[in-house]
Amino acid sequence: MQYKKKDSLYTTAWGQSVLVQRKNGLKRLSMRFSLKNKSFMVSAPIRFPIKQIWEFIDSSKAWFTKIISKQSDIIEAKKAIVPGQAIQLLGSAVTIEFIPNCQAKVILNGSVLEVYGIRSKFEHQVMKYLKDLAYEKLSEYSNLYANKLGVTITKITVKEMSTRFGSCTSLGNLNYCWRIVFSPEPVLAYLCAHEVAHLKEMNHSKTFWSHVRHLCPNYVQLRKWLKQHGKELFEVE
Ligand SMILES: [Zn+2]
Repeated sequence: MQYKKKDSLYTTAWGQSVLVQRKNGLKRLSMRFSLKNKSFMVSAPIRFPIKQIWEFIDSSKAWFTKIISKQSDIIEAKKAIVPGQAIQLLGSAVTIEFIPNCQAKVILNGSVLEVYGIRSKFEHQVMKYLKDLAYEKLSEYSNLYANKLGVTITKITVKEMSTRFGSCTSLGNLNYCWRIVFSPEPVLAYLCAHEVAHLKEMNHSKTFWSHVRHLCPNYVQLRKWLKQHGKELFEVE
C-alpha cells in the first residue's frame, strides 16, 4: 500500500502550530497537547485526507484556547511568546493574538494585544512592543519625578537585567529592566521614584527614603509587591 505520508506541520489561521502525525492502526483522529514538547499534536490514520484533518484542527479553536489558558497552571513558570499567550501588562490581563496580515503592526485593543503580520516575525514584534512600552512609561515617570526633585537625568536605558529592575550612576544615567511592564503601573512608578531619588542620594539612608516618599507616598506597599512578585516578572521568555 503506497499511502504512507510523513508527519507535517499545520498552522491555523490564528497562528497555532499543530504537528500532524500519521499512525498505523488508528481508526480516528485524536488531538492532544504534549507537555514534554510544549506543542499540539494530532494523530491521524495513515489514509485520512489531509484537508479533513485541517478542518478538524480549525474547528477546535475553543479547545486550543482552553488548553493555552490553563498552560500556565500545567507548566509552571515559563511563558513563551506565542499566539494565545496570556500575560499581565501594567496590571491588566492581556491575551496576545496573531492576525495574519501583509501590514505589520501591533495594537492594544482592550484586553487583546493584536499582532498583525507574518508568523515568523510575531515574537520579534511582541518583544519590540513590550520594550517600547516599558521605555515610554519608565521615561514618563522618571522625567516627572526628576522635575519634582530638581535633578537632571542624562540618559534612560531600558534593557534585560537578570537580578534587579533598576540601577543608576552618579553621571545621571538610569537603567531599567524592561520586564517591569509586567507589574502593575504603580509598581513601575515606584521603581522610577526609587532610581530618581538616587540622583539626590546615592545610598539607602533615611533622607533617600524621604525623597521616595515625597514622590510616591505609598511606596512601602509597592516595594513589598516588587519583593514578593519580582520573580514572576521573569516568567515570560
Ligand atoms: Zn536603591
